[in-house]
Formats: sequence, structure tokens, C-alpha cells
Amino acid sequence: MSLADYEVVIGLEVHCQLATRTKMFSACPQRIGAPPNTMVDAYTLGMPGTLPVPNAEAVRYGIALALALGCEVQGTSQFVRKHYFYPDLPKGYQITQSDRPYAWGGGIEIPAGRIRLHHIHFEEDAGKNVHVPGEDVSLVDYNRAGAPLLEIVGEPDLRSASDAADYLRELRAIVRTLGISEANMEQGTLRCDANVSLRRRGVETLGTRCEIKNLNSFRFLERAIEAETRRQADLLDAGEAIVMATMSFDPDRGVTKIMRTKEDAADYRYMPEPDLPLLVLPDGWVASLREAQPELPAARRLRYADLGLSANSAALLVDDPELAAYFDATVRSGAEPKTVANWVGGELLAKLEGAPICDSPLAPEQLAELIGMIADGTVSGRAAKQVFSTVWAEGGSPRAIAERDGHRQVSDTSVLEAAVVEVIASSPKQLAQFRSGKVSLKGYFVGQVMKKTRGQANPKLVGEILDRQLAATSEALPE
Ligand code: ADP
Ligand code: MG
Repeated sequence: MSLADYEVVIGLEVHCQLATRTKMFSACPQRIGAPPNTMVDAYTLGMPGTLPVPNAEAVRYGIALALALGCEVQGTSQFVRKHYFYPDLPKGYQITQSDRPYAWGGGIEIPAGRIRLHHIHFEEDAGKNVHVPGEDVSLVDYNRAGAPLLEIVGEPDLRSASDAADYLRELRAIVRTLGISEANMEQGTLRCDANVSLRRRGVETLGTRCEIKNLNSFRFLERAIEAETRRQADLLDAGEAIVMATMSFDPDRGVTKIMRTKEDAADYRYMPEPDLPLLVLPDGWVASLREAQPELPAARRLRYADLGLSANSAALLVDDPELAAYFDATVRSGAEPKTVANWVGGELLAKLEGAPICDSPLAPEQLAELIGMIADGTVSGRAAKQVFSTVWAEGGSPRAIAERDGHRQVSDTSVLEAAVVEVIASSPKQLAQFRSGKVSLKGYFVGQVMKKTRGQANPKLVGEILDRQLAATSEALPE
């Protein structure tokens, strides 16, 4: 059989590390990129006698996401212990949620349709084992141990690798818009496991799934799903059964490999967390967070489409809420939206060279002023780019800089009128050709006027004056 005879079924489990000041169950500060083992306290290290206290900020962030995804937030949920033995887990168990998560249901809209969510739950992260290359030792960094995580568990509604990437991208945009996490895959603040199974087309029942762990880029997510699809199809074609397993993806060879055959839930000795009562949400939290919900990506995309932005421009802004805020502020300052989107997506991003928009020395008001100067003919588009660079380097008002550096466009009609008349008078050969039908020579006349005015003439006005003058000379002279 060929791949086309199978339907691929995918469900994602996504972990999102919350950008709270402190960890999930202790007042230990957390910071991404801190030197190893500097973000730890007695609780993080599993010292006897320490007790967990849930982080209210993390709970609020979790509720905000659940509301944005249309989940049913539970007034009461339960923490449980999940036991396993590994050096990155000092306590010997992880506090998570299982049968009674804080949010059920919900969904994410992607171009292919609505992908349902199963639930979202809170948990604490483990530390990180660092294998020293070429040496026979492993080190452990506990900075991440106890970091607050949301696990967003999707239903197996996805039907292709690219749909899976769409789903994860939309989730990322929503998380970033809420400002609850950097949601950065390279950094590990957004992590994804993909469950993949195949079934013959037309068959209702789901096939046996395998779970690919730790996909840390969109590219790897798609490639891993494609590789796992091929592996399972080959096995099925050969008449073999799929064994439920946990897989890893080898990006160099482009294949998935079995890490371990799936452990049973019973192996984890799940039990209610004895050191924590049920999590009961205080009155009013859900309502006030619902009230405070920002404009979500779907609504933002619609608003940008109404402003005339291309889908690409809108996507660029929706994926980076701070850039979107900058765009909105520039438009509020009076600049035309499509032009703003072009400047933000072009000149501004190029100058930022990957730095965040908060590093821009140009405030939205300054960009709006610059764009206004193009619109009212004060400067040409080309001169505006020079003014932009100067303001970027030196600061100041774009209008003042354009004035000082002689970038003002000549829009004085009497000056332009004179230049046009002069150019026509000194180009009798071109004028004759123009009159005999070679209308493309208008470009030549425009060029001459621009040269005469050292590039500062307003080209639109020059065009208009030329049309008038050329018509006048044709009428004045007999054919
Ligand atoms: P677990 O066994 O990890 O507790 P579930 O069985 O509920 O969890 O499923 C975990 C993830 O696997 C979910 O994202 C779900 O959508 C996905 N999943 C479940 N069954 C299948 C399947 N047959 N094919 C693909 N994905 C599946
Ligand atoms: Mg799982």
C-alpha cells in the first residue's frame, strides 16, 4: 500500500513554561538563562521539611489561557504526585494534575478547522540533565526544577504535520498575546510532544499511537511526524503491529527511534498530593480575568484585514504582540495603516536585526510623523528612508531632521513649473519625438527635472505639470 492509503491522526501535548516571577510551589525566583543552579531554594532541591504553596500568579495565568481557549474552568481541581526516579527530580515525584485538572475542553481554530482540546492542567517542571560531551559524567541543573508549567492536551483531531504546526503556532500566538509566557521553542518555554497513529482510510477506530518527545522547533515537529508516519506505514505494510512506544526524533538522520515502550499510568504511583488541599479558585477570579482578556489573535487578524493589511503583514504582527502594539500606536498617531505595516515589516525589522521592538530608538509617534511627511509630500519615499536612518542613529524629530539635512521635497509649483519649462525648451529633439507619438519619453522629461532639482522635486507634481506643459506645446505648434 502507499502512504496515501493511510490517514495520519495526531494529538499534541504542549508544555508552556509560565513567565511568573517565582516557581510553581515556592517563592524561589526563576529566570531563563541564569547560570546553572543559581535559581534554587530548599523546596526546589527537595529538602526534607519543605512544603509546597501554589503560586497565585501562575494560577491566574492558567485561567487566562483556559478562558482564551474556551475551556470550562473548574472551581475546584486537585494536585497529584507522579512518581519516578531520575536525577533531575530531587523530590522523587512531580506535582501535577490528573483526573481533576483545572480546565476541561475548549479548542483552537486553524485553517483546517477547529481542533478540540481535552484539558489543561498545572504542573511543576523537572531540572535538566546536562551530558558533558566526550566525558563520562552528567551534570544536573536545577534552575528549571519547580518552574510553573501548563500542559495543554489536544484531542487527536489533527490530520497532517502542517496542521499540527498551524495548531502550535496559533497556540503560541494566543499565549504570547496573553503575555503569560515567552512561548519560545528554541528556549524551551514552549515544548511539544506529538502522538501519531495511522489508520486505513475509511476506518473509524483509531490506530495504536506512538509519542514523539521533545520537539523543539516547528521544523522538527513537522519532520518528526512525517518520519513517524513513514515508519508506521512500513510496519503496517509488512503486516506487523504498531507497539505503543515513546519515540525520539533524530534530526540528522530524519528518523524516529524507540526510546522505551510506553509505561503504564500505574508505574507512576499517582496519588493525591497530601501536602496540598484541593485548589479552590477564589470568588471573582474567573470573572475578573474574563473581563481583562485582551484582543485575541483571531479578532486581531480580522481587524487588520479590515484595515487593508495583507495576510502576511497581519500574521507578522499577530505572532509578536509587542510589534502589534507598536503598529497600533503608530496608527493611533494618525499614520495610514498599510504604510505603517510596510515600514514596520520592512525598514524597522531590518534595523532591529532580531532585537525586540522595545529596543527601537524610534517611538511610534516619530514613525507616524515620518509617514505623515511622505503622505503630505514633504519628503519622497527615498528621502524618508534616509531621514529614518538618521533619526534611528541620532534621535530627534523627523520633520526637523528632513529640514536640517535638505531632504524636503520641492512642492512649490512655481519652482517646478519653471524647471519643467526649462527642460522642455532645452530638449527640442526629445520634444519632437514625443509629439510624433513616442509618449514613453515622458519618463525622460521627469528624469531631467529630478536631476535639475537634485532629486528633491515632488515626482507626482512634476508629472502633472509635465502633462499640462507638453499638451500646451503640442497645441501651440501646428502639426
Ligand atoms: P496519556 O496516555 O498520555 O495519559 P491520552 O491517551 O489521553 O493520554 O492521550 C494523550 C495524547 O495522545 C492526546 O493529545 C491525544 O490527543 C493523543 N492521542 C490519543 N490517542 C491517539 C491516537 N490513537 N492517535 C494519535 N493521537 C492520539
Ligand atoms: Mg502524556
